[in-house]
Amino acid sequence: MVSLGLEDKVIVVTGGDRGIGAAIVALLQELGAKVAYTDIKISEGKSGAFAVEADVTNLASMEAAAAKIEEKLGPVYGVVANAGITRDNFFTKLTPEDWDAVINVNLKGVNHTIQPFISGMYERGQGSVVCISSISGERGNVGQVNYAATKAAVIGLVKSLARETARYNVRVNAVAPGFIDTEMTRAIPDKVKEKITAEIPFRRFGKPEEIAWAVAFLLSPIASSYVTGEVLRVNGAHHT
Ligand code: NDP
Repeated sequence: MVSLGLEDKVIVVTGGDRGIGAAIVALLQELGAKVAYTDIKISEGKSGAFAVEADVTNLASMEAAAAKIEEKLGPVYGVVANAGITRDNFFTKLTPEDWDAVINVNLKGVNHTIQPFISGMYERGQGSVVCISSISGERGNVGQVNYAATKAAVIGLVKSLARETARYNVRVNAVAPGFIDTEMTRAIPDKVKEKITAEIPFRRFGKPEEIAWAVAFLLSPIASSYVTGEVLRVNGAHHT
């Protein structure tokens, strides 16, 4: 029997309450990991996963969550920086608040998610961090100047941090999803959705589980042991 080697590994997923995060939590549980997830609001507990309310925009909140998780489950092996938001509008209509909100969650939030865990990973000489970027960060998207800027920044963060952490046997990678069927994309008007779908060679949006498998691969100390500083696109050939 082949295994991804995630059995009993403690893994934390931010924004795990719904959408892509919830699919990641579910798959990691099936793969035998000890899963904790955080969200700004926990709506329903997922059986077997440890849920903690925490706001990624606030470092103290994430530090407190990290302490609770490590006390309950033990030292953390894997971190998935998944929480993200959009505040879409044409560039001329983007307000300073639209910029701040998106930067605070999608960029600073990634830093606040990784910081509380990284020193422990260094000490133990093992760990894997996966950040959820986006196709928008690579190819740009109308109405998403603020969002795309944060998702491109996450790629820079991942590539730089991977160089720093390699000496400790800690890997850092990104997954760049294309358009995935979640609450986030349900807000897109049907006509726009049809147009986008026609541009995707697979002629459909992706499913959250299809992102979860890419994350599991990058977390795996067996399957991706020599992969770091990479961006794994999961977008049905909807490339740059
Ligand atoms: P959803 O909006 O469905 O889920 C995002 C989750 O993050 C929600 O549970 C949300 O909580 C939570 N969250 C929001 N703000 C915070 C915060 N400050 N602290 C903690 N949790 C927070 O999004 P998706 O599942 O679609 O997206 C997941 C990730 O994938 C994001 O980073 C997104 O940018 C990225 N992505 C998504 C794509 C898509 O097509 N769906 C494409 C490419 C990338 P609440 O519900 O309470 O707001």
